Amino acid sequence: MEQQPQQQQPQQHRDQYIGGGWRPSLGSESIPVLNPATEEVIASVPAGTAADVDAAVAAARGAARAWGATPPAQRLEHLTRLRDGLAARQAEITGTVVAELGCPLSFATPVQAGLPLAVAHSYIEILSGFAFSEQIGNSTVHLEPAGVVAAITPWNYPLHQIVAKVVPALAAGCTVVLKPAEDTPLVARLFARIVDGAGFPAGVFNLVTGVGSVAGAALAGHPDVDLVSFTGSTAVGRQIAATAGAGIKRVALELGGKSANVVLPGADLARAVNVNVGNVMSNSGQTCSAWTRLLVHQDQYEEAVAIAAKAAAKYVPGDPASAETRLGPVVNARQRERVRGYIETAVREGARVAAGGAEAPEGLATGFYVRPTVLADVTADMTVAQEEIFGPVLSVIAYRDEEHALEIANGTAYGLAGGVWAADNDTAAAFARRMDTGQVDINGGRFNPLAPFGGFKGSGVGRELGRHGLEEFLQPKSLQF
Ligand code: NAP
Ligand code: MG
Repeated sequence: MEQQPQQQQPQQHRDQYIGGGWRPSLGSESIPVLNPATEEVIASVPAGTAADVDAAVAAARGAARAWGATPPAQRLEHLTRLRDGLAARQAEITGTVVAELGCPLSFATPVQAGLPLAVAHSYIEILSGFAFSEQIGNSTVHLEPAGVVAAITPWNYPLHQIVAKVVPALAAGCTVVLKPAEDTPLVARLFARIVDGAGFPAGVFNLVTGVGSVAGAALAGHPDVDLVSFTGSTAVGRQIAATAGAGIKRVALELGGKSANVVLPGADLARAVNVNVGNVMSNSGQTCSAWTRLLVHQDQYEEAVAIAAKAAAKYVPGDPASAETRLGPVVNARQRERVRGYIETAVREGARVAAGGAEAPEGLATGFYVRPTVLADVTADMTVAQEEIFGPVLSVIAYRDEEHALEIANGTAYGLAGGVWAADNDTAAAFARRMDTGQVDINGGRFNPLAPFGGFKGSGVGRELGRHGLEEFLQPKSLQF
């Protein structure tokens, strides 16, 4: 595994990728990028301004008509080179995400670097077989690109979230301005270099780094943006939807969740609980679709808590750059305080700490670490059962019967993902069909990057990935003959 070279002097980037090249940011301020394991500044990037956003949107608008009119086969050639660029730089992508997010190497390699490559590849296949027009009676219906896309992404799966928006948007014939999370701009810059190497026409893809309240807000509210695709917090998503509504823009929102993993009597309890703990601890619990609520029958409750506590203890926090580490830090100090605060709130509200806790992990004076935590005696009305924690914290909740389990599972503002385990797939699937959520894994079914991903209720609007993810960036035009 190729490692990032240790930098003596943090690299100070001052440019944005706009109109097919790197040009100086129009702002003078910069954003320091920290390594969450060492708390050291590893680089800085420009804090883009509204003027940078204006320039990027103008470049995207300028390129939109010609790019939108290219035959799909031509877009396919560019996207194939982009996919090959992602494949060629897997080690560099991994090293960058380990450094700026603190994601353990063993998870970053397949997920932070490998998954975006798989998603990019999936769009090569989808685009090659996609019908951009269909005949409906006396109408020919053409699926045309939505236009200029604003992509605003978070830091938890920084490259995956970029690829899941930018690649289908480009495949659809849209042009893009990307504003990545301020915590993880380095992998976004690396992505821009890969796009640059793939020879897309100038202005088709643009990158503006900056803070959300300035660059993000300017981009989301820009009158010349046609569609805003956002992944992040509910609070910001709500603002973006309101702004987009006022501007009659299309919007896609992916806003996280409080997903339930329901273990029905008759299921393989040990397997269901062990898989759940792995699901929550990976990426330090910073996963929007994480099963943060484990629902088990009251008769199996103490057994489940014991299995979960034992499994969680195997996630010893440590250096994400080490190959053995399974649990790294969380992304920043604010997030660490937030997560610890939730654990304290849970205890105040009557939960029992079965593993972990709010105290700093032993022997880790530096780095934004949180103990892998299992909370027992959690009831459906507690704060930790309702709000997204975004840390390595699992809440175990007891249910009386299947109806009660369903009521708890559906009893939050969210509806992004979930799991159901039962003696057989039919029983589990029947329960899953009654859950108000966008994705459910049956008896440990694997993640499928071709299946639509997105939320019911407060988890958002729209779908990413696969054919559904491409269709988000298209709009039908009907010609009658
Ligand atoms: P966030 O503020 O919503 O950040 C997401 C993206 O939106 C970032 O690029 C952010 O820029 C940008 N942004 C912030 N304010 C904006 C505004 N007014 N207009 C336009 N863009 C704006 O999320 P966060 O603060 O990083 O994380 C907070 C919580 O959100 C987490 O604890 C978690 O619960 C949830 N979250 C969910 C997901 C998910 O996958 N659904 C991902 C991350 C976080 P900056 O980076 O400069 O803030
Ligand atoms: Mg933020």
